[in-house]
Formats: sequence, C-alpha cells, structure tokens
Amino acid sequence: MKYYILFGPPGAGKGTQAKLLVDKYGFRHVSTGDLLRKEMAKESPLGLKAKSLIEQGLLVPDEVVVGMIKSEIESNPSVPGFLFDGFPRNTDQAATLDKMLESFNQSVTSVISISISDEMVKERIRHRAMLENRPDDTKDEVIANRIKTYHDKTEPVISFYKAQNKYCEIDGVGNIEEIFDKVCELI
Ligand code: ADP
Repeated sequence: MKYYILFGPPGAGKGTQAKLLVDKYGFRHVSTGDLLRKEMAKESPLGLKAKSLIEQGLLVPDEVVVGMIKSEIESNPSVPGFLFDGFPRNTDQAATLDKMLESFNQSVTSVISISISDEMVKERIRHRAMLENRPDDTKDEVIANRIKTYHDKTEPVISFYKAQNKYCEIDGVGNIEEIFDKVCELI
C-alpha cells in the first residue's frame, strides 16, 4: 500500500492534481479540508466546531483530523494507495501519522510538495473564490491568516520528512498538465 502526502500552501493545486492522480492510479484521495467541509454542510457538532476555526484561518484540533484519517484508512482496505491532501499540517500530526501507519505495519511512501509563492497563493485563492463558494476564500484577513498558519505550523513538516529522506518538491508554477507530468514522474 502506498501513502503519498500532497504538500503545499493553500491554493498550490493539490486538489487538482489529486483528482488527476485518482483517475490515473486509482488512489483514494483524502482531503481533510473536504471532509471538514462535509461535516460543516451537515451542521454536525464536529462541523459546527470546525467552522469557526476554519473561518478564522486557524487549524482544527489534531485529534479531529487524525480521527478522520484513521477511519479513511480503515474503511478502504483494498485501494492501491492513499493521497493525503491538507494532512499532516503540523509536526505533531506528522508524528501521529507515522505511529498510526507503524501500527498497521506501513509507512509514508513520500511527500510530494507543490511550491508556489505567497503572492501566487493570494492570486489563486481570489480566483477560486469566484468558482467555489468557500467562506474562508473571500476575506483578505482570513487568507493572510491561512498563509501565516502555513508558514508557522505547516512548513516545519518539510524538515520532518527531509530528515526521513521522503521529501520531494516541484515548482507549482505552470499549467496543470505540466505539473501533473512532474508529479507522475515522482510517483
Ligand atoms: P487550503 O485551500 O487552505 O489548503 P483546505 O481545504 O485543505 O484548505 O483546508 C481548509 C481549512 O480546514 C484549513 O484552513 C484548516 O482550518 C482546516 N484543516 C484542513 N486540514 C487540516 C488539518 N490537517 N489540521 C488542522 N486543520 C485542518
């Protein structure tokens, strides 16, 4: 079983690449952001709790997303692999994922990081706000907070996986097919 992590700032194109990878390889795409948005749409207790944090550009508690990941792994025993998107988002989540996979006698295969500048993050999110109806995509201060959260909490995950020799980075500037070719080469 393969466990890939699609890594990168908000708007880097992880979801777009994930869809193409699912079609080509049959992997299971697990986006913690999408799972949280489903809970929000259902207005479940978890969704309501997540909503206020997400709308401030903050992270939801680790145990919430870790629980989601665990149940996705357990309920999809026969896929060829998983694509985690938006997870792990801090080093505690990365360490917990390692332990969880170890308990299944598995490990992270590699981290595929799509890198773009903060300016491009803002541009892409503004563009996405016109296409999708995400409340966290519309307010400038929320976008700025998400970029700050990415630098403060998520970027340290890079060193975590570099230390394990599992970190690969590609330039996220270019058209979707060009980037997809590079991702496929890595896979
Ligand atoms: P983005 O486009 O900013 O990468 P996502 O759709 O991945 O957005 O996530 C939206 C929001 O959901 C995040 O800003 C965060 O509040 C929350 N979230 C998603 N994944 C996680 C995670 N692994 N840990 C904590 N919070 C998360």
